[in-house]
Amino acid sequence: MLKLDIKKAITEIKKKKAKTVVLQIPEGLKTKTTELIERIETQTKAKVITVMDPLWGACDLAEEEMKLFKADLLIHVGHTKFYDTKIKVIYIPLEYTIKEINTDKLERILKNNKIKSVGLACAVQFHNTMKLIEKELKKKKFKVFIEKGGSKSFVSGQVLGCDQTAVKKIEKKIDGIVFVGDGLFHPLGITINSEKKVFAFNPLNREIKDFEKEKELYVRKRYGAIAKAKNAESFGILMSRKRGQFQKEIALNTKKLLEKKGFKAFLFSMDLIKAEYLMGINIDCFIDTACPRITEDNLNDKPILNLKELNEMLELK
Ligand code: SF4
Repeated sequence: MLKLDIKKAITEIKKKKAKTVVLQIPEGLKTKTTELIERIETQTKAKVITVMDPLWGACDLAEEEMKLFKADLLIHVGHTKFYDTKIKVIYIPLEYTIKEINTDKLERILKNNKIKSVGLACAVQFHNTMKLIEKELKKKKFKVFIEKGGSKSFVSGQVLGCDQTAVKKIEKKIDGIVFVGDGLFHPLGITINSEKKVFAFNPLNREIKDFEKEKELYVRKRYGAIAKAKNAESFGILMSRKRGQFQKEIALNTKKLLEKKGFKAFLFSMDLIKAEYLMGINIDCFIDTACPRITEDNLNDKPILNLKELNEMLELK
């Protein structure tokens, strides 16, 4: 069961005597929106304004809305702190309350792959579950390593699609990595940034996925995009205005680099980067300077490269 504890938010709203609060809820929890608003509004004197734009990470705090609505507090559900801001934010983490977990299948897989030293990583909602798995694996004499990466407010083992520091820190000590969580985005991020074997353990359906095949598929797709981009003469550099994804200097330098090499390069700014907004733009290739999900999701029929891939493509040329 997914635990959503808003006590901290209620206490802060009361303490601050907040009149207006802005609420941000991740996509998977939107069905709980009205229930959450009612809980806050009946237990406090605050009015809640909920931002309904899609929310994928704490890189996207509703700072503009806070100013516009002259709000006293931002309640951000589902993610941990990503960057410093002057606005007052209460982060409400989500946690699956899983009491016990059977790791027999996982142990068999690890043994079959000759993995004795295991690095554990997780999506923040599965931190407690990862700790249960750690206990079980240690009982079976595996060496287990978990590190805290990313920002100070991350929990141990926590990774994001754009931040695998927790894994990088332990990579030299381990034979393989087990990611605990659902979805493909986070373990794919680990896989493409690590030489080690990665298994994703989804505690919700007990599935264990070997990411070797995903990595092969990903690499093939990315080489395809690089090959397609080799013929490009015009480039659209995508910039997101979300503060945690905003990379103005990098985008400007990329434009300079491309122009120096004789290409046409254009800067395109958006809040949410979406394929529909780029339809009809006369560009041969896009460059992603924002969230890695944009490259991995493939925006449209035009190739889209991240900055590392752009450099590889330029070297090939
Ligand atoms: S930039 Fe992308 S991967 Fe990183 S926190 Fe934001 S949404 Fe998640």
